[in-house]
Amino acid sequence: MNIIFLGPPGAGKGTQSKRLEERYGLVQISTGDMLRAEVARGSDVGNQAKSLMDSGRLVPDELIIAMLKSRIEQPDCAKGFILDGFPRTTGQAEALDTMLTADKKKIDVVLFLDVDEDILADRISGRFTCAKCGATYNEVSNPPKQEGVCDACGSHEFKRRADDKRETVVERLKEYRKLTAPILPFYEKTGRLHKINGMLSTAEVTAQIEAVMAGQ
Ligand SMILES: [Zn+2]
Repeated sequence: MNIIFLGPPGAGKGTQSKRLEERYGLVQISTGDMLRAEVARGSDVGNQAKSLMDSGRLVPDELIIAMLKSRIEQPDCAKGFILDGFPRTTGQAEALDTMLTADKKKIDVVLFLDVDEDILADRISGRFTCAKCGATYNEVSNPPKQEGVCDACGSHEFKRRADDKRETVVERLKEYRKLTAPILPFYEKTGRLHKINGMLSTAEVTAQIEAVMAGQ
């Protein structure tokens, strides 16, 4: 089973991917990580990509596709993979299909974690952690039992990540929607797009995903 998982930062995609990996024996592939690994390894494609990036140019789709092709031929991908961060454009989506077809493979499912940007921004911007022990809290969904006191260590000091500021989060989410929007029709047209309501609890999101998987 080969999956493309689309979902904005902070919507729980990491947790759900992990569950998919464990439950179905899939391997998550982030094209960004893959590219960095190839460059670090000094492989042919890695060296090509590096010289392009060093001269300030973008790594062309063909090169990413070639890397992806060799990555998914590794034995750990025998049961399938979960693609994260790729494709971003219809051109990339088509090139990916062409490569997979030639390899007698295909993308079976495209999971689109659909969220309400405003509500998600409220959730993310409510996050904070204990400055002493790192325990995580949320103003709305998971506050400390006693206000201002860490449940785990009793500390009174907390901190927030600068990029969890509400305006920053809203911006990040809007950017993500803009980036993803163009490829949705491509997968919808071919009957592979499955919208998952990303605003429900982690367990409910998992249940929706498993229902999609069961229908394959
Ligand atoms: Zn603490």
